[in-house]
Amino acid sequence: MKNDITKIRMDFPILSEKIYGKPLVYFDNAATTQKPRIVIDTINEYYSKYNANIHRGVHFLSNFTTTATENARETIRKFINAGSHDEIIFTRGTTEAINLVAFSFGEAFISEGDEIIVSEMEHHSNIVPWQMLCERKKAVLKVIPFDDNGNLETEKLNNLISDRTKLISVTQVSNALGTINPVEDIIKTAHLKNIPVLIDGAQAAQHIKVDVQKLNCDFYVFSGHKIYGPTGIGVLYGKKELLNQMPPYQGGGEMISKVTFAKTTFNELPFKFEAGTPNYIDTIALAKAIEYIENTGLDKIEKYESELLEYATTKIKTLDWIKITGEAKHKSSVLSFVMDGIHPSDAGVLLDQMGIAIRTGTHCAEPVMQHFGITGTARASFAFYNTFEEVDKLIEGLKRVKQMFG
Ligand code: PMP
Repeated sequence: MKNDITKIRMDFPILSEKIYGKPLVYFDNAATTQKPRIVIDTINEYYSKYNANIHRGVHFLSNFTTTATENARETIRKFINAGSHDEIIFTRGTTEAINLVAFSFGEAFISEGDEIIVSEMEHHSNIVPWQMLCERKKAVLKVIPFDDNGNLETEKLNNLISDRTKLISVTQVSNALGTINPVEDIIKTAHLKNIPVLIDGAQAAQHIKVDVQKLNCDFYVFSGHKIYGPTGIGVLYGKKELLNQMPPYQGGGEMISKVTFAKTTFNELPFKFEAGTPNYIDTIALAKAIEYIENTGLDKIEKYESELLEYATTKIKTLDWIKITGEAKHKSSVLSFVMDGIHPSDAGVLLDQMGIAIRTGTHCAEPVMQHFGITGTARASFAFYNTFEEVDKLIEGLKRVKQMFG
């Protein structure tokens, strides 16, 4: 893969841009990834040539775009190996997908005194919707802790589970620590007690091959914009038998079967959960992003990104004034760190002047910061279009930051 990087980078127009006259070094991939030309061109092409509202037209354009949207659903079904296209629901992103489950699963299955388990390393998107549900239903939120290296203490899960546990919702990869969690084990443990599990794949699906049937998770969610697709589109996978028992999340067009003022009946899956005009053009472009990474090869991507992470980790460890936050046994493309006497945002601003984009702050994971008693970290996050030379630039940049701060 190393030899293909120059060619791969040419597929991503933004990577040739200059920031303050310097070549862009983009290390903020956990926040959002850049888009290959095929994604940008697809959006342009559909708005230029094929735009029409889907699912209800009799004319050529509507039918054309409807077919493309449903083909995109099939591409995504295959990508995560879901059993049926009925199990693929389009949302605005991971956040909306989790809110959908928290609301609809909550309405169907949660009562006063029931318990939901999340982990201490969740993104706010996988905490707050459950807190809101618990507030609404007078249910209880329990938390699986992680150790100081960032490994989830899954051995504590059995003690947290009770006969009131109704759902476990955990991230496959932490956006703040990079930890890859043993979600297969969590799912097996939960299923022994018939507890469904939601996996937040926002930081996983772009790095690790996902097979929802093999994982046997009950729900799986991810965002298009983190997997080289457009913003405003995401995916909820849910097992049919659960989705069928859950009420709609929003009411409106398309999610109904028949409407009268006396009674409304709802559409079948997946449309029951897709109220209103869907984001069909970004759906079609998301499928192009997925085809792009499948053609590149997720196994190659995973291998190359781990080499990049290992290289960056080894290099950053030579700087004795930097401490990595999160050194779990299994990690994905995230390198979070704190610096002696330098605030992460000061370092971020100075690196930006050098054309290097990293993220600083809490990464929407404040409980992770509370665990370490820090206010934030600096985070470099990698994608397969990043290079070893760019990592060298980051290290040189950090050395200059240190010099500037004396
Ligand atoms: N979960 C994780 C682990 C994330 O990293 C993110 C995005 N940073 C989200 C959820 C939320 O994703 P989105 O903002 O695309 O809905």
